[in-house]
Amino acid sequence: MEEKFDCIIVGGGIAGLSAAMTLAKANARFLLIERGEFCGAKNVSGGVLWGSDLARLVPEYWEEDGGFERFVSHRRLTFMDEQSAFSVDFKSDHFKETPYTGVTVLRAVFDEWLAGKVQEAIDASAHPDESFLATDILVEEVVQEDGRVTGIRAGDEVFHADCVIIAEGVNNLLTRQIELEKEYVPGDHVAVGVKEVLKLDEARLADRFQLNGRSGLTNEFVGACSEGVEGGGFLYTNKDSISLGLVLGMNDLRDKGKTPYDVLNSFKEHPVVADMIRDAETVEYSAHVVSTGDIKGMPSEIYADGVMIAGEAAHLLLNAGKAIQGMDYAMRSGILAAETVVEAKKANDFSSRMLGNYRKALESSYVLQDMKSFQQAVHLLHRQEMFSTVPNLICDFGRQFFTIDGKPTPKASAMMRAAIKRHASYWDLVKLGLKGAKAL
Ligand SMILES: Cc1cc2nc3c(=O)[nH]c(=O)nc-3n(C[C@H](O)[C@H](O)[C@H](O)COP(=O)(O)OP(=O)(O)OC[C@H]3O[C@@H](n4cnc5c(N)ncnc54)[C@H](O)[C@@H]3O)c2cc1C
Repeated sequence: MEEKFDCIIVGGGIAGLSAAMTLAKANARFLLIERGEFCGAKNVSGGVLWGSDLARLVPEYWEEDGGFERFVSHRRLTFMDEQSAFSVDFKSDHFKETPYTGVTVLRAVFDEWLAGKVQEAIDASAHPDESFLATDILVEEVVQEDGRVTGIRAGDEVFHADCVIIAEGVNNLLTRQIELEKEYVPGDHVAVGVKEVLKLDEARLADRFQLNGRSGLTNEFVGACSEGVEGGGFLYTNKDSISLGLVLGMNDLRDKGKTPYDVLNSFKEHPVVADMIRDAETVEYSAHVVSTGDIKGMPSEIYADGVMIAGEAAHLLLNAGKAIQGMDYAMRSGILAAETVVEAKKANDFSSRMLGNYRKALESSYVLQDMKSFQQAVHLLHRQEMFSTVPNLICDFGRQFFTIDGKPTPKASAMMRAAIKRHASYWDLVKLGLKGAKAL
């Protein structure tokens, strides 16, 4: 008899591996196919993995050395103009409690570590010889028979399964092939992310960022970091390195005739950032497309007969200003898709009616609830004022407020009025403030 899996997972990124772990624990027979030489070889993130789903997959992962770099205990949001930086800074011991609510990761390390954990779960399952993690293989086609997905083709090989989970990431060619996403997602629904990993001695890094043990800092930036291009910057601390990067609007980059690496170089030269990365050596450079979190970029549907779409292939991502949430969304959607496979197997029903439970589960989870709740914030972030007027105004106010120069000091309200006068109109700010209040 021809071999048939309960499930085939395309993609060994966070969504695919989370689905695989869930299936292994449920003793399902599955095949995961990853095109990279190893899981994580092709993947890019800032990256902070938010939420606590990792502990669902690997309980007490924090007891181990591998996987994550640091847990997030210190958060900062910085508004920049050409010379200054004004930050909102929050540090709290409550972040030290496990399971952590945010950990920094380097994807080439993290994904490979998670793949190792999945292999351990396969080995401990009821069918250790019937589930596989296969790397260095490109899935070229999703096989369909009589309108339902029945497997995949890689080269000359066709593999069959009751169900396929497509977890191929943002460049969702296979999702488009089966017409769940009708066309290329236009430039206004995707951005380009560029990132450097800068090596810095662990003790120096801890001193510079006031880190204790495995605690870490996340710093988001808006304003001069993007040279007037729609977008923002980030700096995250790893064990002995810094992840520094930008997420920039694709259309705006093109319209302003800028290249991502030029903008990144100028971000690195900003006096505030230059101090943070001083003497750190660039050891890795990467770039990747990333969803903007606009719900309009999502496929027309995320399931059909015999198939479900998980992670960023379904454009599940939120960037509403305080963090990019793509990995936790990938993790949760991978888990929910796999749980749906397990239920479908019990009922021996892989029809779209049954797999629609995946969408229902996502709708009841924070993933689709937050994406819907914060759409206005996503759109607000793309307004020109958010990366020019607002940071300039805030820094102008900060400069006045913190300067003591032997002259009479105006009241803070007068300083604010002066800053507004220089950068915006009251009416525009009131409108923006109202929009902001509604969006958040
Ligand atoms: C610069 C940048 C910064 C970011 N920062 C953050 C952050 O701080 N926090 C956060 O939560 N998110 C962040 N994100 C978003 C996050 O990286 C993604 O949302 C997340 O990686 C999506 O996971 P995924 O598993 O869906 O897709 P991916 O991680 O892209 O994995 C897809 C996998 O599928 C494989 N694949 C694709 N096609 C095929 C095929 N045909 N055959 C076989 N294998 C295939 C790929 O090789 C890849 O391994 C950032 C993204 C960028 C670019």
